[in-house]
Amino acid sequence: MATFTAIRIDKSESGQTAALVDFDEADLMPGDVTVRIEWSTVNYKDGLAITGKAPVVRRFPMIAGVDFAGSVIASSHPQWKPGDQVILNGWGLGETHLGAYAELARVNGDWLVALPKGMSARDAMAIGTAGYTAMLAVMALERHGLTPQRGPMIVTGAAGGVGSIAVAILVRLGYQVIASTGRLEEADYLKSLGAAEIVERKDLSGPPKPLAKERWVGGVDSVGSTTLANVLSMTRYGGAVAACGLAGGMDLPTSVAPFILRAVSLLGIDSVMCSLPLRRAAWARLDSDLDRSKLAVMTTEIGLADVIEASRRIVAGQVRGRIVVKIGG
Ligand code: NDP
Repeated sequence: MATFTAIRIDKSESGQTAALVDFDEADLMPGDVTVRIEWSTVNYKDGLAITGKAPVVRRFPMIAGVDFAGSVIASSHPQWKPGDQVILNGWGLGETHLGAYAELARVNGDWLVALPKGMSARDAMAIGTAGYTAMLAVMALERHGLTPQRGPMIVTGAAGGVGSIAVAILVRLGYQVIASTGRLEEADYLKSLGAAEIVERKDLSGPPKPLAKERWVGGVDSVGSTTLANVLSMTRYGGAVAACGLAGGMDLPTSVAPFILRAVSLLGIDSVMCSLPLRRAAWARLDSDLDRSKLAVMTTEIGLADVIEASRRIVAGQVRGRIVVKIGG
């Protein structure tokens, strides 16, 4: 194909714009693998990139979209051949390298992970960067030695993408899960994913005390700011919290008290530059430890033409669970 459909972000003196356009294949960036993209997804970061609310995009013009699943159509990379089914999350896709909201991508073959055998490309993007990040967070908590016997887990931003998948994984692993949400109307949804208890967002939004009553042994936090500070202050002795998001803000108004008086650990999670062995392990765990019927419940399907509107909604905190994007006809 000489041209293909894509969502292109441009920047001019009047600001940043995003539009569905015909993109010339000749303008793809260098790479040793060309992929026909079948599915993508809308993550919070995609919302920030498309709306321009945060400086995610660092090259213009840019094709937006930070992750995709698809099949290899050309490769000079030793590991990949035409027909291979692959996943790409991060590595600067949609930020510094032309991204996923497009029918074609040309990328570095070292960035790709094989689609797990039992997983469809659609399911891989229903999981997407949000779900793969939730799995990285759970694996970090496990490396810290946490087990269901040690106590309950809190998940913040629970009705969002990272949150919904974290709830489903932790429940599948046997944890009692406490889900924190600002949308109490989603309580039944969160219980359908297996959450045992719902905590209102406002209960974790007040000024954090250095130490508060111990309520959970650990957690997955996609909110940051005051919420994370409150979660830390309520974490049991020896527990750990995996910080992976900033939906509530970049700041962290905490004290050292949870760390030095309760031996609590704060575990940082990054999906973008995460090593290949850890990525492969996370995708293998997603294949085995995420209930697909729960993934189906949390997933809404849209087309490429709907992505710009969905981006506005995710930044406004109005998306429940995950959005999967069908690329092409
Ligand atoms: P979603 O929008 O799907 O989920 C975020 C959730 O956070 C919302 O659904 C909402 O949950 C809650 N929330 C939103 N705004 C606020 C607010 N002002 N105060 C408190 N809670 C709020 O986004 P994703 O799940 O895709 O991403 C979640 C976060 O994780 C983002 O910050 C994203 O950038 C980050 N992330 C980081 C990655 C990494 O590599 N570290 C990778 C992927 C994501 P509810 O309605 O239930 O309260």
